[in-house]
Amino acid sequence: MATETTLILFKPDAVAKNIVGTVLSRFEKEGFKIRALKMMSLSDEILAEHYAHIADKPFFPDVRSFMQETPVIAMVLEGEDVISKVRDLLGPTDSKEAAAGTIRGDFGDKGGDAKMRNVCHASDGPETATAEIRRFFHEGEVY
Ligand code: ADP
Repeated sequence: MATETTLILFKPDAVAKNIVGTVLSRFEKEGFKIRALKMMSLSDEILAEHYAHIADKPFFPDVRSFMQETPVIAMVLEGEDVISKVRDLLGPTDSKEAAAGTIRGDFGDKGGDAKMRNVCHASDGPETATAEIRRFFHEGEVY
């Protein structure tokens, strides 16, 4: 097992539903440590970079608008195997397919926006995590 860091974004649906604390407490209960935390509005530029892998998809403009509905809360979490464990805690991208007990299963959209309004972003691997932490935080903001 390796000590890793990962980048989490609490998306606008989590902010609007007042469930940021509830979800964050699930991460803390796993023993993961907060290394950085801040609220920020996401520009078109940062979203184009962050979502470069879906930029050519027809749903990308909707994702960009969604991610700008409210500021998001960005966080760096540290822990043993935190990258894959947080992805497991979240469940799959489509909240309708996410099992009860997972964050997306419990709090994600269950209607037509189930694939988009899915509570949190979390890095999917060590290289992505390093790049994403740099994208959202200055060096001095990560403790
Ligand atoms: P994940 O965030 O689970 O790693 P992806 O990287 O594939 O998923 O997609 C990035 C984000 O784009 C998703 O979290 C979701 O908000 C949105 N998204 C993905 N697929 C769709 C889709 N088919 N329709 C609408 N939004 C989507």
